[in-house]
Amino acid sequence: MTILSQHHYHPLRSSHHAGLDHQRRCPMNVHCSTTTTTIKPKTKPKPEQLVIEQTRLVTPPPSVTTTTCVTLNYLSLQSTWSHRAWVASGCTTLAVSLVKCVTAAAESHMWFEPILAGLVGYVLADLGSGLYHWGIDNYGSASTPVFGSQIEGFQGHHKWPWTITRRQFANNIHALARGITFTVLPIDLICNGPILHGFVAVCSGCIMFSQQFHAWAHGTKSRLPPLVLALQDAGVLVSRSQHAAHHRQPYNNNYCIVSGVWNEFLDELKVFEALEMIVFFKLGVRPRSWSEPNSEWTEENESPSQITLH
Ligand SMILES: [Zn+2]
Ligand SMILES: [Zn+2]
Repeated sequence: MTILSQHHYHPLRSSHHAGLDHQRRCPMNVHCSTTTTTIKPKTKPKPEQLVIEQTRLVTPPPSVTTTTCVTLNYLSLQSTWSHRAWVASGCTTLAVSLVKCVTAAAESHMWFEPILAGLVGYVLADLGSGLYHWGIDNYGSASTPVFGSQIEGFQGHHKWPWTITRRQFANNIHALARGITFTVLPIDLICNGPILHGFVAVCSGCIMFSQQFHAWAHGTKSRLPPLVLALQDAGVLVSRSQHAAHHRQPYNNNYCIVSGVWNEFLDELKVFEALEMIVFFKLGVRPRSWSEPNSEWTEENESPSQITLH
């Protein structure tokens, strides 16, 4: 059977522009390239073929023997020099804060309070990640000032959750690194207290790397480093099972992505639902989770092995 077709689609940049039918057939990829192929009629793709497709996500081979959606927008998952520069600046501001904390603690022989402040920062970073994630999941759009690209990115993430595991490190965290640079740099320049810097260094570090923790929460056990697995199992980093619940109906819980320690508390007390009611009655704005989970927020692909073959 010979099939020839060509589709262009930008799911990570658009939630609304293409028909669902097309999205389902071509879930992630910008360019559904098609090639000439020979497929036996009424034969389902064999597991070996699916494995081949995973490889193509990264480097499409020159000769394609099976007609499929091939990822040609994999460049959008790659880090650019601008991404790396923002991550470097974020890491630098964090390092300055940490060094200031340690030197001031050493000079004053005060260690307990800065360490305690760091622990508080770690715990509050999880809460902050949940609030931020809830906000961008539910409100605004791609055209929202400052947060537009993050909102768009997270909506794309809800359609194709596994793509986050293919993002390169700096590509994944550069937006948060930029935010950390702008908030921590002034604190570095003005403040010298060990307690404040203990809090700032740990809290902002956890927030900046929360997208990496998030990516690890989408990883498979066999691919994650043993240390990451151990930290996830110990509850230091958000667990894979806890975050998986965020990607299942009703799509309005488990927003925290640092340690996940706040998730149970926030969800049992229905804190986000209460916030949504307050926003609705005060501003008349409905959260996306009230209306979209049954349509566009459908999780279409758990893993690359489920890429649709044509
Ligand atoms: Zn989300
Ligand atoms: Zn996720």
